[in-house]
Amino acid sequence: MCGIIGIASKEEEVAHDLYCGLYALQHRGKESAGIVTFDGKRYYSRLGKGEIALVFRNGGALSKLKGETGIGHNRYGTAGKNNSANIQPIRGVWKGKEFWVAHNGNLINTEKLRKECIRKGFQFQNTSDTGVIAALISLSSAPSFEKAVKGVLSKLRGAYSLLILFGSKIIAAKDPLGIRPLCLGKGDKFFVLASETCALSHLGADFVKELNPGEVLVVDRSGVKEVKRGRTNKKKFCIFEFIYFLRPDSIMFGRRVKNVQKNMGRYLARECPAKQADIAVYIPDSGKYGGLGFIEESGLKNGEEAILRTHLVSRTFIEPIQRLRNRGVELKFVVINEEVKGKKIVIIDDSIVRGTTQKRLINLFKKAGAKEIHSRIFSPPYCYPCYYGIDTYRVKKELIAQRKKRNTKEIAKELGAKSVCYLGLNSLIKAVIETPGEPLKKEDFCTACFSGNYPIPPETPG
Ligand code: SF4
Repeated sequence: MCGIIGIASKEEEVAHDLYCGLYALQHRGKESAGIVTFDGKRYYSRLGKGEIALVFRNGGALSKLKGETGIGHNRYGTAGKNNSANIQPIRGVWKGKEFWVAHNGNLINTEKLRKECIRKGFQFQNTSDTGVIAALISLSSAPSFEKAVKGVLSKLRGAYSLLILFGSKIIAAKDPLGIRPLCLGKGDKFFVLASETCALSHLGADFVKELNPGEVLVVDRSGVKEVKRGRTNKKKFCIFEFIYFLRPDSIMFGRRVKNVQKNMGRYLARECPAKQADIAVYIPDSGKYGGLGFIEESGLKNGEEAILRTHLVSRTFIEPIQRLRNRGVELKFVVINEEVKGKKIVIIDDSIVRGTTQKRLINLFKKAGAKEIHSRIFSPPYCYPCYYGIDTYRVKKELIAQRKKRNTKEIAKELGAKSVCYLGLNSLIKAVIETPGEPLKKEDFCTACFSGNYPIPPETPG
């Protein structure tokens, strides 16, 4: 899962707007960030590790990125190691001409494609699946760049929302199942492509459309052109985007994400009431809207003052020091003793993957004097690894719901909770579909991490 943005402007330099857009998309990845621009003659780039503000902490750096067209990327470490060569956008050269690629998603046939490139003599500097896409384009002998990209897209399997900067054009593409988001927006004098509509809001751009599965667009200062490609009517949008990744103010399929999450919380309150609780506390920030829906439906007292999340603790502060890494949850959250002492608490959170965060949170409530803790989760048990953009296959043996065979009593025991209850898969889907917006069917979603029904059978992950 990463954040991508591209802007083609009629007359203004785009670096500052790309920076703002990446700032809005920061929640999609904090491992590294990069911006590349083109001024009609040459490219300008700045890439670095850490959050976007850290990469551009020297304010003058942005002004050096000249040009009216550009793309940017926030990286969340998925395929490939966290080394400098994997920072995106990634550079390629096709028939002597430079291009840059920014990718959100994860391919599942990376290794096969990488071997194909190596056989053709390509020497890789990076280890990511995006590097393989750039290599395949570089090796293409197609008569035009657009045809080279189209030919390469037909070889890719897995999830991809792509932005490719080639001179003053940006090529945008979505995989045939549309697993990851990518939308088009329009400002007074520019076109913008972004992972989420929240980036458009910050730039004052109007939403034009969400790209369809398999759609390819070429965007430049003069307009938007669609490239013909065998499109499918099928879509398999990642349902976990609605639970955790999409920012609550973003709009997806005509639905404000926070409203979808509130609906999940309402369903959860009906399915998993916690009538014995004195107060209901949602875990900030990701549990907030699901928690509000739960509180509204259950009629329980809102205990939001019981927990505080400090936003000042950044990864940059925590990650270099192992001892602090182990204390991430304790540094991020503070439980207020007098709000919880002697009380029965129900905590509402979005998901449990390995269980480490939930366990530490429960421990914080216990230390603060809570009498008993009930955990309510507005997504189903996370049992199967994701191969399409969040690398949970790297920790597949650690997924608590799978280890405990979905036995909620066992899960509660390990977490130290009095009870644990998850939202059912059917209710999750209903909560999304029934939120007002464009018509959606239950078949329109990837639910593999909850159901094991992989829309594309996983091969060797990249
Ligand atoms: S497996 Fe889960 S996280 Fe991955 S794309 Fe499917 S729904 Fe999303």
